[in-house]
Amino acid sequence: MSHSPLIPESKLPALGTTIFTQMSALAQQHNAINLSQGFPDFDGPRYLQERLAFHVSQGANQYAPMTGVPALREAIAEKTEALYGHRPDANTDITVTAGATEALYAAITALVRPGDEVICFDPSYDSYAPAVTLSGGILKRISLQPPHFRVDWQAFAALLSDKTRLVILNTPHNPSATVWRKSDFSALWQAIEQHDVYVLSDEVYEHICFDEEGHASVLAHPQLRERAISVSSFGKTFHMTGWKVGYCVAPAAISAELRKVHQYLTFAVNTPAQLAIADMLRAEPEHYRELPEFYRARRDRFVEALSDSRFEILPCEGTYFLLADYSAISDLDDVSFCQWLTKEVGVAAIPLSVFCADAFPHKLIRLCFAKQEATLDAAAERLRKV
Ligand code: PMP
Ligand code: GLN
Repeated sequence: MSHSPLIPESKLPALGTTIFTQMSALAQQHNAINLSQGFPDFDGPRYLQERLAFHVSQGANQYAPMTGVPALREAIAEKTEALYGHRPDANTDITVTAGATEALYAAITALVRPGDEVICFDPSYDSYAPAVTLSGGILKRISLQPPHFRVDWQAFAALLSDKTRLVILNTPHNPSATVWRKSDFSALWQAIEQHDVYVLSDEVYEHICFDEEGHASVLAHPQLRERAISVSSFGKTFHMTGWKVGYCVAPAAISAELRKVHQYLTFAVNTPAQLAIADMLRAEPEHYRELPEFYRARRDRFVEALSDSRFEILPCEGTYFLLADYSAISDLDDVSFCQWLTKEVGVAAIPLSVFCADAFPHKLIRLCFAKQEATLDAAAERLRKV
């Protein structure tokens, strides 16, 4: 008897493989320098690696507490207070997650109900929309325009409705490399104060901010933080995206709901990695304090090396991404241009239109500069020839 295979009706029919996976695979296939997917090509701190080995050797190899190991939650509370002037309760407000991706998914799943509206800003990071869709939410997108990608707060206010449940923001912003200022958070508060709206603030690049004002966190805003979930990632901070450890901070009542999702999504996160990160945060806080300078040097070197190319480089206020305008070089759309660049020039980049639901007719690509100097120099040499 033959059975026809069961093919599920997709809950996410429009989705394919992420652009990061696609472009990294294409880079590998063509032996191109991979400036597409955002990850460093150098290692994280030696001390962190040693502490991981230490904790493994000491037998810290069983389940961690569901919310995260106490030492790490305490270290996060201290760091948050030192940076943003607000000390979250390590027991009730901080949850360690399997990277920022899990925190974002758990937050959206906990807060968004069928029919709820969620506002985000396009270009937007690719993991938000599928999570909103799976929860039955309706995404309302505000398009930000290059080169400054600033929010039009009147347009934002016009989009608010009785159904608005959540606003998702990201600063420093992937992929535009712009940052929110304190005044943006004030404007957000003014707009939503009279509405029962939550805020999900993706701050995974909090330590890679080049703005004079420094990183403006939602946690530094006394009213907003009462209804916000902020999301961070140790993958960015410690150059080890493969460890997949992140966390979120939210008031107890919101955290309680988020934890209900987290405990059945992953239950708990890698124990020895959490302990190693706790040691690292306490022993070497200068690592993240010096991160802006570390990345500023790479950014400036790469910008300088591209200065006599035909790419026009946009301002970079934060993240380890640089936007380049290729209008002077090609009429191709950005997806085709990135494919061509990978195959013919040997440098892989990310097209910006994939982060937008509406047409994004600009000729912009994203280049990751979290790379060794030799990698950046070699990439710039190829790009200058275009
Ligand atoms: N948000 C943004 C804006 C990101 O760029 C990334 C990854 N680069 C994430 C979330 C996911 O972080 P993680 O790797 O810790 O899951
Ligand atoms: N966040 C990384 C980027 O923007 C990619 C993460 C992933 O591959 N999912 O490049």
